[in-house]
Amino acid sequence: MKIIVCAKQVPDTNEVKIDPVKGTLIRDGVPSILNPDDANALEAALALKDRYPDTTISVVSMGPPQANYMLRECLAMGADEAYLLSSRAFGGADTCATSTTIAAGIRKIADYDIIFAGRQAIDGDTAQVGPQTAQRLGLPSVTYVQNIRELKQGSVIVERQLEDGYEVVEVQTPCVLTAVKELNTPRYMSVENIEEAYTKAITTWNEVDVNLKPEDCGLKASPTQILRSFAPAPKGKGKLLAGSIAEVSAQLVAELSELHVI
Ligand SMILES: Cc1cc2nc3c(=O)[nH]c(=O)nc-3n(C[C@H](O)[C@H](O)[C@H](O)COP(=O)(O)OP(=O)(O)OC[C@H]3O[C@@H](n4cnc5c(N)ncnc54)[C@H](O)[C@@H]3O)c2cc1C
Repeated sequence: MKIIVCAKQVPDTNEVKIDPVKGTLIRDGVPSILNPDDANALEAALALKDRYPDTTISVVSMGPPQANYMLRECLAMGADEAYLLSSRAFGGADTCATSTTIAAGIRKIADYDIIFAGRQAIDGDTAQVGPQTAQRLGLPSVTYVQNIRELKQGSVIVERQLEDGYEVVEVQTPCVLTAVKELNTPRYMSVENIEEAYTKAITTWNEVDVNLKPEDCGLKASPTQILRSFAPAPKGKGKLLAGSIAEVSAQLVAELSELHVI
């Protein structure tokens, strides 16, 4: 079986701040990590490889050269090979252009049964790239996969998470599945795999390698552009009322009356 995992290197959002003047994300000095849902996607692939050892797992990422570190981490978790789609032409991509580029990379890899992606990336947060990539490749997709029940000849049965339950979906392969964190617990890198990761290949492709024209990529192919990002203004400090229920109620009514709320 051939599995492709889409993985994005993202800034650790606990550390990200927004430049109040330029309105852009301050990424300098911010540690980058493997997008958490993508770690679940990779774990799902690795669990299938545990069950079916002749499985090959390829990880695909679009990003700057430093995304190599994240891909090396994926190899150290147990992936077999990695592809980095990296070029100045890819810069400024929205989800539309991102999925065009990822789909072009996957088309070049050519051989796949299941493509895993994360449900969403913690920086862009759109959850669009997985289903868009499926559409560009003409494949069926199931989003919010919380469990893989059964792998059959030509199809896979999965549970798709809903707000108040789940639905069981059988989807033909090849297909795209997007993983949520409830799907599994990603494994740690092993010492043996870390050593081996440095013997495995990371292939870098630009737009020419994946048969795209510069106008099909990045900012030029992006219908949406981010004009400004901003952090919401912090709310004022709350006030805690103390006393019996009667006292607190009286205080509350007095304060709200003073503010002309009631
Ligand atoms: C603050 C902010 C706001 C943004 N707002 C918008 C917007 O409104 N509209 C818009 O079109 N774009 C927007 N973008 C750009 C968008 O984030 C990028 O195009 C990004 O590459 C993909 O979108 P996403 O991060 O939302 O990914 P999602 O769609 O949330 O990602 C889902 C999954 O797709 C896969 N994936 C996503 N990106 C990659 C990648 N580069 N390489 C490999 N796999 C990947 C991963 O498996 C990931 O878990 C925004 C970016 C930021 C930082």
